[in-house]
Amino acid sequence: MEIIAKLKEIVGPENVSTSEAICQSYAYSCFLSLDWMTKPDIVVMAETTLQVSDIVKLANHYGVPITPKGCAGGTGHGGPLHGGILLDLTHMDEIILIDTEDMKAVTEAGCSFFKLSQEVFKKGMMLPTTEYGPGPNVAASAITPVNAFGKTRYGRNIDLVEGFEVVLPTGEIVTVGSMAYADTRFGPFYRYIHGPDLVGLFTQSNGAYGIVTKVAYRCLHRPPNWGFHAYCWPEDRIEEVARVLMETTALELFDVHINDKWKFAGFEILTGESMLPKEAYFIVAFTANGESEEELKAKENTIQEICTKNNGSFLPGIADTFFEAWPTFFCPASHPIAVEMSSAIMEHSKGNYMYIYDSINYPISRFPEVYDKIREIGKKHGIWGLPRLTVYDGFPMKSQVMCSQTWAFINTRDAYWVEQIYKCRDEFRDWFGKSGGTHQQHFPPVIPAYAWENQQGAHDLLKKIKSLLDPNDILSPGTFS
Ligand SMILES: Cc1cc2nc3c(=O)[nH]c(=O)nc-3n(C[C@H](O)[C@H](O)[C@H](O)COP(=O)(O)OP(=O)(O)OC[C@H]3O[C@@H](n4cnc5c(N)ncnc54)[C@H](O)[C@@H]3O)c2cc1C
Repeated sequence: MEIIAKLKEIVGPENVSTSEAICQSYAYSCFLSLDWMTKPDIVVMAETTLQVSDIVKLANHYGVPITPKGCAGGTGHGGPLHGGILLDLTHMDEIILIDTEDMKAVTEAGCSFFKLSQEVFKKGMMLPTTEYGPGPNVAASAITPVNAFGKTRYGRNIDLVEGFEVVLPTGEIVTVGSMAYADTRFGPFYRYIHGPDLVGLFTQSNGAYGIVTKVAYRCLHRPPNWGFHAYCWPEDRIEEVARVLMETTALELFDVHINDKWKFAGFEILTGESMLPKEAYFIVAFTANGESEEELKAKENTIQEICTKNNGSFLPGIADTFFEAWPTFFCPASHPIAVEMSSAIMEHSKGNYMYIYDSINYPISRFPEVYDKIREIGKKHGIWGLPRLTVYDGFPMKSQVMCSQTWAFINTRDAYWVEQIYKCRDEFRDWFGKSGGTHQQHFPPVIPAYAWENQQGAHDLLKKIKSLLDPNDILSPGTFS
């Protein structure tokens, strides 16, 4: 009762709730299924960094766990694992700066990444954005490994982050990277300052080292000319597909994306007509841009040469609408077709959920063997093709790295098929982990064993560093800012 009263003093009574219904409504993750429930005891909505700092100090004083909420528990650990305070930063959603000259943006932590990206776009710049919809906020996007369209040229969202304002676990407020001098005459202009990269301490940290309250991004120039093209290959041409992915990723095109034909099966179930020619199995969509029409044309010619040389067939009518459709795909109000399509697939497979295996990283050159293994295991357990579709979704990224995920449509109320999914997952993890693949999604404790085992060297090193340093030194605000 004491902490609740003090929380109300900090943020106002209207921003603190212990109501059963409210706490329950924050308990679910849209990705980890209904079985995954992490209910907070108190929901608090902060409006300023100072309030966040006071809340953290108070939580420390009472020894109550505190978890900031990003969006959906999609890439993080999924919610307040230990109960306690759930900190919702939705009210901290101000876009503080959009600087079109130095091409920077600074926002408060709770700002929707989609909103930021739209505002940046209106000013003639861009921030690569994924199929998100308006849910995920900037802070959660900047500290988890998100990859969006544009990832082939620019890498992950965290590669565009230049600075943070963070409330440390002690409640102290620190600024790192470009945010360390955001209030000076020159403003927040560059991530790297003297000494080690402290922004990197927070990217991918999943919030372990503090609560992010502001994020600074570098924005990208938006060229005026854009081209969208897709090519397809039959199933037995996988080696050629891999060569195309390697060559086009090396060119630093804006975006390369690969799916297998199961991605498009929903449309066929819905309409009775296929979007793809009969022999099409692998579909690669390219997005290129250019300052001039000539530059774009030259890039398009190169894509065509690479694809034709590797026996790809031009596939009209796919890439042209790929990006237009995707960002709104998860927002039924703006994309009613998505709703019809998913219910049609679900009716067909008698399924009720899109089940996601791990999101994983591996060299693009290894795409054929990874795909072969996913298919082999899926077929073995009866989760492949109709009616229990398994869709391969591949994101070729800079550094010649593939990030991919695989979804399967099964009836999650049917224990048999859930068991088959787990068998597929565990067999795949065993092979993939031993091959040296890395896990992209989720953070401890929601990670498979191989994600730890492969990184044991790094963990040993961290332990060694910790044993050498005085924790009081690391946490002093002067060192950070
Ligand atoms: C419809 C939809 C489509 C998506 N598509 C893609 C896609 O194509 N590619 C992709 O990469 N991802 C995609 N995602 C997942 C997306 O990357 C995550 O939703 C996003 O990164 C936010 O993370 P989260 O949902 O895990 O949020 P949360 O689990 O709420 O937050 C992530 C972690 O950060 C912590 N945290 C939250 N806020 C703060 C803060 N202010 N300071 C410190 N720690 C904080 C949380 O406690 C948690 O540990 C999609 C998500 C949605 C909803």
